[in-house]
Amino acid sequence: MITFDAVTKRYPDGTVAVDALSLEARTGEITVLVGPSGCGKTTSLRMINRMIDPSEGRILLDGTPVQSVDPPVLRRGIGYVIQQAGLFPHRKVVDNIATVPYLLGWDRKRARGRAMELLERVGLDPGLAERYPFQLSGGQQQRVGVARALAADPPVLLMDEPFSAVDPVVRTSLQDELIRLQAELNKTIVFVTHDIDEAIKLGDQVAVLRVGGTLAQLADPKTLLAE
Ligand code: ADP
Ligand code: ADP
Repeated sequence: MITFDAVTKRYPDGTVAVDALSLEARTGEITVLVGPSGCGKTTSLRMINRMIDPSEGRILLDGTPVQSVDPPVLRRGIGYVIQQAGLFPHRKVVDNIATVPYLLGWDRKRARGRAMELLERVGLDPGLAERYPFQLSGGQQQRVGVARALAADPPVLLMDEPFSAVDPVVRTSLQDELIRLQAELNKTIVFVTHDIDEAIKLGDQVAVLRVGGTLAQLADPKTLLAE
């Protein structure tokens, strides 16, 4: 479980990106942060894995303040998926997925075996393993990005507009797959989007943010649907 305890982030230029945000992202659920551009969604995600630290307040991971954990150790337990997959262009798909296992010192065979297993799990043809990212469609690249984030089996998965850059048909199937995957994996997922329909579809809990970084509403998506 991830807890935001009155978290504020003020950038050096004075911009308040996140303002006294409190919420809990529970294990086994997808918590969606939704709101217009500039409402502090990305800033909130980056504070979880300490790419940036809050100005005030605390973030707890299963009760432990993330600021008491070394970033490299913390990040081993946190998968991160961004909009443009962020794959290494000069590495084959299989090696992209195995990046973290390699870093963790797994032998090549075991790391690649894990990568192949994940390729299948995210719905990709194993035949794609030896391709380079530029030889994949946008949707396929995003799936590889998800597989890579899952490689070390982290308990937490952070997703920053992961499906925004793909066409609507592919996006729908990626959303469906994420729901299916989460039912199997039981992770703590924090998912950022500016699309309210996506938030309602994916979220077990939806945090609606406004520009200025304040929480407008913390809702069960079924309630939002009724509005
Ligand atoms: P979102 O992800 O919802 O689009 P961001 O977290 O990226 O929002 O940004 C929230 C606010 O903080 C915006 O006003 C943005 O311009 C500002 N901001 C983001 N990063 C920085 C930074 N490094 N320095 C100063 N302001 C920033
Ligand atoms: P996204 O919408 O995907 O979050 P942005 O365009 O908001 O992307 O931000 C791109 C990068 O620029 C991020 O690293 C963010 O931290 C940084 N950034 C955003 N707004 C500002 C700002 N006002 N000043 C400095 N850096 C910013």
